[in-house]
Amino acid sequence: MQIDLEAEKKEILNRYKRLIKSCKRRLEKGEKELIRKAFEVALEAHKDMRRKSGEPYIYHPIEVAQICAEDIGLGATGIIGALLHDTVEDTDLTLEDLKGLFGEKVSQIIDGLTKLSGMQDFTESLQAENFRKMLLTMSEDIRVVLIKLADRLHNMRTLEHMKPEQQLKISSETLYLYAPLAHRLGLNVIKTELEDQALMYTNPDVYNEIVQKLKDTEPERKRYIQRFIDPVKEMLQRQGLKFKIFGRPKSVYSIFSKMKNKNVSFDEIYDLFAIRIVLDSVSEFEKSDCWKAYALITDIYLTNPDRLRDWISTPKSNGYESLHTTVMGPQGKWVEVQIRTERMDELAEKGFAAHWKYKDAMAAREQQLESWLGRIREMLEDPDPDALEFIDDFKLNLFSDEIYVFTPKGEMKTLPYKATALDFAFDVHTKIGEHCIGAKVNHKLVPLSHMLTSGDQVEILTSTKQLPKNEWLDFVVTAKAKSKIKNRLRQERKKTALAGKEILKTKFEAAGLPDDLKTLQGFLKFLKLPSLQEVYYRTALGNVDTKEIQEFKEFKNSGLLTAADTVESKKWDELITRVRGTSNMLVISGDAQQLKYTLASCCNPIPGDEVFGFFSTNAEILIHRVNCPNATKLLSNYAYRIVRAKWGNDQLISFLAGIRISGSDEIGMVNSITKVISNENNINMRSIHFDTDDGLFEGTLMVYVHDTKHLNHLVKNLKNIKGVSTVDRIGQ
Ligand code: MN
Repeated sequence: MQIDLEAEKKEILNRYKRLIKSCKRRLEKGEKELIRKAFEVALEAHKDMRRKSGEPYIYHPIEVAQICAEDIGLGATGIIGALLHDTVEDTDLTLEDLKGLFGEKVSQIIDGLTKLSGMQDFTESLQAENFRKMLLTMSEDIRVVLIKLADRLHNMRTLEHMKPEQQLKISSETLYLYAPLAHRLGLNVIKTELEDQALMYTNPDVYNEIVQKLKDTEPERKRYIQRFIDPVKEMLQRQGLKFKIFGRPKSVYSIFSKMKNKNVSFDEIYDLFAIRIVLDSVSEFEKSDCWKAYALITDIYLTNPDRLRDWISTPKSNGYESLHTTVMGPQGKWVEVQIRTERMDELAEKGFAAHWKYKDAMAAREQQLESWLGRIREMLEDPDPDALEFIDDFKLNLFSDEIYVFTPKGEMKTLPYKATALDFAFDVHTKIGEHCIGAKVNHKLVPLSHMLTSGDQVEILTSTKQLPKNEWLDFVVTAKAKSKIKNRLRQERKKTALAGKEILKTKFEAAGLPDDLKTLQGFLKFLKLPSLQEVYYRTALGNVDTKEIQEFKEFKNSGLLTAADTVESKKWDELITRVRGTSNMLVISGDAQQLKYTLASCCNPIPGDEVFGFFSTNAEILIHRVNCPNATKLLSNYAYRIVRAKWGNDQLISFLAGIRISGSDEIGMVNSITKVISNENNINMRSIHFDTDDGLFEGTLMVYVHDTKHLNHLVKNLKNIKGVSTVDRIGQ
């Protein structure tokens, strides 16, 4: 390949100029020079490097800086950090060098970013641990995470140049954590692009289908929107409001999640778009103008009172302000209408990028963000929470809706939707939570598990005798309460286990067994328990008796113990290279030479499905569908245990698949269904389960099939039965 170096040099400079132009904030004196210096340092440091696409490496940091400047609205320090973000990691430059050149702050940011990407060695630790580190760094300087998000966005935009398994892993991570984080930080535009890009790789078929259908239905949708808008426009104008009104299509990803969560097809989704009214309003009339517009619309269209959301009086905790309502438009269709002012709109779409324009509004938002970060910091201070568990809990708090409740003194607290009295107690203070025995909500006595609603006044009752219980985990919803309870339970368990250790020692002595580590580990294997702590714990509870110890002694003396049956961690690498070695692909076939694999029961994959292999802890390979409900979590957290897999051509065996079917309960329905199945070649039924309720039925069928072709054929024929309205594969 011939590379025109002169042309490249020109292009680099052009991109740099574009970056400078896109800076939203006015640069102070000297800042422009510093950015120029950072650009030159980065250019020199990356000069011999190229990206996978073949482009000069420097394009990447420039683009990342561009996103930071334009879409996130970072100032000079952030832009400099973005330009230099890969230098310490990938070039000879050191943190000391950068500190000398750009000062303490910049080097701290680069340090944070380097620590995050330094963890890319998948065999080293779980990805979840990296996420935890990221949150820790984030709570120190939010710019680290903002740059990381920009870095991720540019990597998603250029993901086509990576290997398929990397595409899948990076996209899953993006959906698992980066998009929710962008959402929580109020960066709506970035969140939407991250989600759509990721979906393109994790679910290409569905993605393309939705894009195509959106395109096909566009003319019709445009006509409808126009018909909806015209009378509203006229009315608002007549009342002297200044505004923009337009229809906004929902993102591909949000349509996809709706289809998945509500189990409906594209054609059944009524809100493919929302109508947005953006008012040009002066600050003191913002609120009243929004409500005025709302009142005018309800004169034209019937509203659904259950669907009114007022995020103007109490903004969401990511700062979102808007008035949402759903009205009945022409042809009896429900249409979502969003009413907001220009300021609210800009803050909602761009978050921090709007900072330079709306300083006051941002100050309040930053204060909220700061208190949120404070809560994260507090959670992170726990000595040893399980990293993956922590991320799961943490994620709960990224997307949930909120309620607003009050302390007896009238202080307002924001809690996630479905929060209980106990969540409230933990929000006030860990000690209050741990000793909570009940609460008074609006002066009435309620149990710990009582679910709060907005406006409640909550007083917590405590007792020093109370301690956290396992059952508490069943009803708390906040990450803070969850992690505090788990932490306390873990401490208690450790204490109990310590007592158990002494008891076991005595019991071993009595049985004439040594209590060295080797024997103890043998005993652990004998009992098939996961850890020594678990053995001690059970001993303390009296669940390990003398008889078991005697049996173990005989077993040990028989010499069977030495033939270890578990795989040690070192062997992972061997196993993985063995599978990946030949074709980078695990071929699933009936061939007995192959490694042992099992089809995961959570998604029941069948030939024709896109699948991957996952090494379980007992050295078995579990085959999951790429769109399995658990896939995102597995792919993003255990990438080093994943192997790409495909189906061999020698499938003669049958696979189990589940189908969910519903419709109106006509006479002889079960009969018609079983008839269709028995008429189908290559398909056998294993079980059928039916529930009927008030003229409707819902059924679950488990069938043995050879591949997706047969299954799809069956689904099609089931749909043709009179009275059947939906037929879906389970786990879709
Ligand atoms: Mn990078």
